[in-house]
Amino acid sequence: MSSADTVQPISGFEAYRSKAEKYVMAAKTVQKVVDGLYWIVAREGLLPDSNIYLVKVGERFVIFDTGISNFFRHTYAAIEELGFNVSQLDRMILTHTHLDHSGSAPLFLREAKDAEVWVSKQEGDYLEKGDDTVVYGSFLGQRLEPVPVGRKLQEGDVVKAGDFTFQVLHTPGHSIGSLCFFEPRQNILISGDVVFRHGSFGRVDLPTGNPQQLIASIFRLAQLPVEILLPGHMSIATNNGQAEIQLSLQFAKQVL
Ligand SMILES: [Zn+2]
Repeated sequence: MSSADTVQPISGFEAYRSKAEKYVMAAKTVQKVVDGLYWIVAREGLLPDSNIYLVKVGERFVIFDTGISNFFRHTYAAIEELGFNVSQLDRMILTHTHLDHSGSAPLFLREAKDAEVWVSKQEGDYLEKGDDTVVYGSFLGQRLEPVPVGRKLQEGDVVKAGDFTFQVLHTPGHSIGSLCFFEPRQNILISGDVVFRHGSFGRVDLPTGNPQQLIASIFRLAQLPVEILLPGHMSIATNNGQAEIQLSLQFAKQVL
């Protein structure tokens, strides 16, 4: 069998680099949201994966969430399909540290050594220590690798990325340090696992989850004039995102 026919197992990072491997690797689906902002669609599989939002920053790029490490090679291919090289990664901004959102961070750091990880101050310490308390790694059969944190974000901070300026909202309930990012010029909300479409919302049964906090967080988000809703899982809403959040609030109040 020639090397081109050999499919390497997912472990072994160097395998991602070989040309032969690239040809057998399907990129994740990519969709433009607005100019300069792209959705890398989560892979469906036995293990959960998260949506990734990529923002163009000049010649470089920023991602919101990293996806799970098992699907890193597909994320890698998707980024190349968008015309970037992974070494051009400037920052990884995490909505929270569950492994389906943060698990690929160590792999990105091997390719983009000066890239920074930004995460909430509440979960940043866990990430730096590789402390599995919040990430539910055992549930996924994975361990959290310690990751250096460049900036610990908190309520009221402002995050600039390319043409976008996001307000940082601390929205706990799904996890203690869950963050949402609101961009008021185009009314875009990156909502992590706080709210999803179709009345869905984040689970509260994982470590540091809290149902009353989640309801309060969704209530807060429902007051924002959100048009474009970019959640951590499932599909995105390209208009009337506020109605989606209000539906999630109704259901959350009923069942939590
Ligand atoms: Zn989560």
